Amino acid sequence: MRIDVVSIFPEYLAALDLSLIGKARQDGLLDLNVHDLRDFTTDRHRTVDDTPYGGGAGMVMKAEPWAQALASVAEAGNSGGDGGTRPVLIVPSPAGAVFTQTMAYELAEEKHLVFACGRYEGIDERVLEWSGERFDVRPVSLGDYVLNGGEVAVLAMVEAIGRLVPGVVGNPESLVEESHSDGLLEYPVYTKPSSWRDRNVPDILLSGNHGKIAQWRREQQLQRTAVRRPDLLEKFDVSQLTKADKAALAAMGYDVMKDRIQLRG
Ligand code: SAM
Repeated sequence: MRIDVVSIFPEYLAALDLSLIGKARQDGLLDLNVHDLRDFTTDRHRTVDDTPYGGGAGMVMKAEPWAQALASVAEAGNSGGDGGTRPVLIVPSPAGAVFTQTMAYELAEEKHLVFACGRYEGIDERVLEWSGERFDVRPVSLGDYVLNGGEVAVLAMVEAIGRLVPGVVGNPESLVEESHSDGLLEYPVYTKPSSWRDRNVPDILLSGNHGKIAQWRREQQLQRTAVRRPDLLEKFDVSQLTKADKAALAAMGYDVMKDRIQLRG
């Protein structure tokens, strides 16, 4: 997969040289390129922002440096000449669709992702319209809060997407049972020693009975999701529930309806 990130703070993205994503770059699984937006300006001051039309606080990122930068990365991404699908342009924005694991899986299938890191009050809206001619444009939010710039959002998204690219995580099994992979949060995990500061690992995990361990873990998933993220449990696909799941939910005070799980009373 090719990834291009455009930012006025390219050094912010240095963390993408570390750990599994850094290794995936070294191994050639991720071709990740970071570009300085100011390299696409033409004036002496390398200006990337100006005052907003209509007035108001703050500055807005100018359209032309963005157009130059995005045209350049679109062309670089197509240098293989395969004339394939259009690259996806992800524009981090608190006004975008919220990033999810499902979105990470979809984006991990793409050949070329481009990230446009906004700063100040954001990017001149016409850049998004213009980009639609050569990119599949997606404004994406990391969550319902406001950051100073898109870089932190890009670090999170590249890590979440990159680890789903085949080969990046050594044992693909570890991706299967994670939180959000099946609509539930992950069960609690423990390692040695089995007794630590008067706290013991649950006996079932030491039993060697794999069937019982799987059942315990599933109950823990349901319980943890009910407590921490009841919104996820309420929209969980009931057709995925086993008889044992339904019994566990009933014991936790939930009714399983035809199309949803609902807290009793
Ligand atoms: N005025 C904008 C608004 O209210 O929608 C916020 C601009 S914010 C200060 C500057 C930049 O930070 C945005 O252009 C975007 O790139 C990034 N940003 C801020 N919050 C974000 C979030 N929740 N998710 C993704 N990017 C975010």
